[in-house]
Amino acid sequence: MKFYTLKNDRKLPAIGLGTWKSDPGKVGEAVIEAIKVGYRHIDCAAVYGNEAEIGEALNKAFADGLVKREDLWITSKLWNNAHEKDKVIPALQKTLNDLQLDYLDLYLIHWPVAFKEGVGFPEKAEDFLSLEEVPIIETWKKMEEAHEKGMVKSIGVSNFSIEKLKDLLVDANLQPEVNQVELHPLLQQEELLEFCDNNSIILTGYSPLGSGDRSQDMKKDDEPNLLENETIIEIAKEHDCSPAQVLISWHLSRGTAVIPKSTNPKRIKENLESYDVELTEKNVSAIRKLNEHYRYVDGKFFEMEGSPYHNIYDE
Ligand code: NAP
Repeated sequence: MKFYTLKNDRKLPAIGLGTWKSDPGKVGEAVIEAIKVGYRHIDCAAVYGNEAEIGEALNKAFADGLVKREDLWITSKLWNNAHEKDKVIPALQKTLNDLQLDYLDLYLIHWPVAFKEGVGFPEKAEDFLSLEEVPIIETWKKMEEAHEKGMVKSIGVSNFSIEKLKDLLVDANLQPEVNQVELHPLLQQEELLEFCDNNSIILTGYSPLGSGDRSQDMKKDDEPNLLENETIIEIAKEHDCSPAQVLISWHLSRGTAVIPKSTNPKRIKENLESYDVELTEKNVSAIRKLNEHYRYVDGKFFEMEGSPYHNIYDE
């Protein structure tokens, strides 16, 4: 097991279990299975719609003595419809209730994008609130308050560009510990990684395996399949491991955390066993050449006509 030490000295396990798209009826078992095989980091979010089932599973895992609360790292995320200052703490409290926890290890602002109250996913321009109407710092102050109240041990952000991080670093009392972003060999985000390293912010990589189970309407035609990439397959053969394990261990070689999603017991175990795969310098430089700034989660769903959001990854 590998950990990254945050600025506040708390230790983030490098590999966690992703839970987006983990179906009801399956996610609880996946969490139990993950804990049994040794995961100590679970990545959740209110918008995934499955925190209540995860809460049941966690409760059972503690009751059965599979793990102690203090040995588990639980992350969740504030959804975009609760950025206004009177909505942040209630949204967090709902997540804590669903997860049946007294505190989270990490709470993230899910996106630098705000919706009106009650909007799950925007369908029209009027569903958005602009960052002039709800500045990120206003939301962040409430994240800081949640930390002060002991509801969360660490706070951070997700899908934040260097520019947005810079603004936050100037205005924040408590600096973000983590930025969770899409990260894999086709999207290596070297500048962002360097900026985060220089500011002691841990980058966590999402969609590390190419997020193949997204719904069809979120996918582009001819989307590249990371798990079938020739370079990745070659390296997997060299290490006698799976392509997924190469993709996961690549994060460990760069000092980023990684949260592959699976609800399949065999793959859950396989993904954690990526700790045993150590890529060589030669492997890493071969993977470096794969970078093509390709995003699976391209954020275009926030950029409909009339929306106040454009180029959210760059601005
Ligand atoms: P991912 O982890 O890249 O890919 C998940 C897909 O890979 C599923 O179809 C899964 O199927 C399959 N898979 C898992 N292990 C495998 C293996 N060893 N070999 C072959 N296939 C394997 O996709 P993701 O869910 O988009 O990203 C991971 C997590 O990051 C999410 O679940 C979520 O927690 C987080 N995330 C955060 C954000 C954000 O905005 N902050 C955005 C996206 C994702 P099975 O389940 O059948 O194994």
